Amino acid sequence: MENRRKYTTPRGVNGKDRRRKQHESRAVRNRRLRKKRLLRKRFFLLLALVVCLCVGFRLQHKYMSVWMVSRMAVVSVPEWIDVQYIPEGNPSRSEERLEAVRDIVVHYVGNPGTTAQANHDYYCHEDSVVCSHFVVGLEGEIILCLPLNERSAASNHRNKDTISIEVCHPDDTGKFSDATYDSLVRLVAWLTDICHLDTEHVIRHYDVTGKECPRYYVRNEDAWIQFKEDVDRTIR
Ligand SMILES: [Zn+2]
Repeated sequence: MENRRKYTTPRGVNGKDRRRKQHESRAVRNRRLRKKRLLRKRFFLLLALVVCLCVGFRLQHKYMSVWMVSRMAVVSVPEWIDVQYIPEGNPSRSEERLEAVRDIVVHYVGNPGTTAQANHDYYCHEDSVVCSHFVVGLEGEIILCLPLNERSAASNHRNKDTISIEVCHPDDTGKFSDATYDSLVRLVAWLTDICHLDTEHVIRHYDVTGKECPRYYVRNEDAWIQFKEDVDRTIR
């Protein structure tokens, strides 16, 4: 009896120990499993949040663009801008709606000494396939050639989301006269205001395609920087 008791006690202890260890390892396994499930749940929640944010951002972006273009259709044009729309059906006027207004593109007409009216009339010609929203003339006159929610045909692949301005110049250097320059500053300041853009979004045709347009402000980077500073000053 003595001997049996001696041997049964350690065996019982081992058995309990084994069961305890098994219980512990099961508990550890369960904990790991729970942790894994929690991590997986968190990952999917985070993923869903990122997807929702991206979709929301895209929808907001699209909604804002549509809102902006609709607003451009009814904006009140100041009296210092002469509205002369190109006739509907003319090849230069596509009558396509802008997708958005992301930039304002400045050009030069490339035909020294021509007036704003002459350039506008050229757009209206039955053979013409080019046009811009605005032409700024040698005396500082400004003609609006298209409704502001329509696409121009001046800035290549950016016609869909830009407002274009052609500027007249007295000679081949492409430098604008003082009157032209002042009117352009005033016009661009007004446009940046109604389009809710800053001067980072005032670009040259050169910035779209690399074409030397507007020539003087491509050849003289300082003059372009100065122009944008002048617009900024007018906005303030
Ligand atoms: Zn150009």
